[in-house]
Amino acid sequence: MHKDIATPGRTKAILERYRVSLKKSLGQNFLIDANILRKIVDAAGVSSDTGAIEIGPGIGALTEQLARRAKKVIAFEIDGRLLPILADTLSPYQNVRIIHQDVLKADLHAVIAEQLADVSDRMVVANLPYYVTTPILMKLLSERLPIRGMVLMMQKEVADRLAAKPGTKDYGSLTIAVQYYTEAEVVMTVPRTVFMPQPNVDSAVIRLTKRSAPPVDVSDEETFFQVVRASFAQRRKTLFNNLVNNLPGGKEKKGLIEQALVAAGIDPRRRGETLDMAEFASLSNELAPLFA
Ligand code: SAM
Repeated sequence: MHKDIATPGRTKAILERYRVSLKKSLGQNFLIDANILRKIVDAAGVSSDTGAIEIGPGIGALTEQLARRAKKVIAFEIDGRLLPILADTLSPYQNVRIIHQDVLKADLHAVIAEQLADVSDRMVVANLPYYVTTPILMKLLSERLPIRGMVLMMQKEVADRLAAKPGTKDYGSLTIAVQYYTEAEVVMTVPRTVFMPQPNVDSAVIRLTKRSAPPVDVSDEETFFQVVRASFAQRRKTLFNNLVNNLPGGKEKKGLIEQALVAAGIDPRRRGETLDMAEFASLSNELAPLFA
């Protein structure tokens, strides 16, 4: 077994040897604790049948742990300066392919079809760059990729929002978007001290297991997400006011919005954060014909 990349000494030595200064603007905080990385790989249930898709391999700390257990690893890295480093640090592993690309611009369906057609299990596993966590997450969810799920390290505050329950301060439109597609659970929290350089916030690892079907019946998904976003637009306002002010043409349809709320059995004076996903689904099913 080769020495882990993820130790403070080895990480420092690699960065010095290649004279690479880490870019905050690319969210470059590298993990220097191999035990945490192994726990991430455990949480993802990676086995010799798994094709792992990694976002932002950095100098290969997580990539290496994945390569030891997975059948294949495909990793997207935006920073070209890291490619020669990765070629070096990951040279012991023949099952890794690095793609030099911004993951937000990648055609993930095509990459999976080309690179991971021969695996029976696919997981996204990543220590995400914090500045683009939400766009990456929304891309991974909305593209309905043929994967089992994702295990992602992110800012703890964001992880708490993804796994939040109705009625809590963390519950919002991001919660609903994520829980519509996946079952979300925080696996562990990770202190800032295990990163180089240390970020200003603590992190958490979240597991998102893709649902085979959404947990609620929604007649029109676009309206559903529009209603959810409108309901949380101003958290202190009532549901009714938020819908009237934030749905397109809402002000002209005040009366109809009120009727839809009554038909869905929801008190218009409630706040958006008190509605569970089933209530948002009934409400959006009542509202959909009005906004078709
Ligand atoms: N996986 C490594 C680890 O755990 O130590 C590095 C994680 S670091 C938090 C995030 C990595 O994502 C960096 O290597 C950064 O260059 C890369 N990155 C940032 N934006 C990206 C993007 N849009 N597409 C692909 N990689 C990106």
